[in-house]
Amino acid sequence: MIPCSAPLPNHEAWQRHLAEGFRSAKALLAHLGLERLWTPAMEAAARRFPLRVPRYYADLMTPGDPDDPLLRQVLPDSAELTSPPGYGTDPTGDSHALAGPGLLHKYPQRALVITTGGCAVHCRYCFRRHFDYTAAGARPARWDPVLDALAKTPDLEEVILSGGDPLLLDDDRLGILLEGLATLPGLRRLRIHSRLPVVLPQRIGERLVHLIASTGLPAVLVLHVNHPAELTEFLSCALSSLRRAGIALLNQAVLLRGVNDSLETQLELNKKLFESGILPYYLHQLDKVRGAAHFQVPDEHAKALHAAMQQRLPGYLVPKLVREIPGASCKRPL
Ligand SMILES: *Cc1c(COP(=O)(O)O)cnc(C)c1O
Ligand code: SF4
Repeated sequence: MIPCSAPLPNHEAWQRHLAEGFRSAKALLAHLGLERLWTPAMEAAARRFPLRVPRYYADLMTPGDPDDPLLRQVLPDSAELTSPPGYGTDPTGDSHALAGPGLLHKYPQRALVITTGGCAVHCRYCFRRHFDYTAAGARPARWDPVLDALAKTPDLEEVILSGGDPLLLDDDRLGILLEGLATLPGLRRLRIHSRLPVVLPQRIGERLVHLIASTGLPAVLVLHVNHPAELTEFLSCALSSLRRAGIALLNQAVLLRGVNDSLETQLELNKKLFESGILPYYLHQLDKVRGAAHFQVPDEHAKALHAAMQQRLPGYLVPKLVREIPGASCKRPL
């Protein structure tokens, strides 16, 4: 286990941390001593999808390293401005899966709630970077329409809170939603998908843990850790309070060129996940979203990498290599 000597993080401050995050490529690059990398094309890319990086996350990057794998995930790139064929604005067909206000229903027994359009970090490869959250009806101010639609969904066993990032909602608003979900008859599992703890572990406070636990539903938090350098002692400590409350921790990563497409990185990522109390779940082949083609890893390389991981890791530390196919009834193994 990664030792946990630090006290629970000061969760009161998470919104202040968020507000003080980086909002421009110039400022982030200056912070890292990499001003020379700045280009006007970077600003043009950021006008389409703004840069957003919490300071905590920026401090995990290596100053002076232009190839830092964490920096690559968040730094706008001129390559985003080109649009190769096959890369669209809705690569997962989500706009066709809307089943109600802020509700996606694609797979049997599971419904996904788009709780908010906001995120603490903007990942350049994001498959929802063009998603129209307003048109999808995501309205955290009022949960009644979502809860009504969920109550009418036949055979529903699991609700997945997604976004944007559901943990960007404050505890009050999240608490109201969780309370509502706890009243749904027949619901057997609660799942939360979030990258927020990875870029701002301060978010995990005692109240959040209590809110999730007090639904009485078996719960799982699916984190989005892409690189071993994202697994810090701070994160591990924050997560331990969730684990003590019986909340299962899984990880889904996206396979990204120049970030985590080497065997060495994948081995270290999955071993370190376990040491932080997290089990690998999915390794996603990139959704073909416009602006992210430069992150694409060829299928042949992805499959060879996955086969090599199977040779070198215990079975429970090998994530499933999958991709999403619009209209398919589950994520497909490659
Ligand atoms: C990915 C996804 C799920 C969950 O799929 P699992 O294979 O159970 O992880 C559910 N709903 C939607 C809309 C999804 O995109
Ligand atoms: S946290 Fe997830 S939803 Fe938000 S920008 Fe990153 S990949 Fe997209």
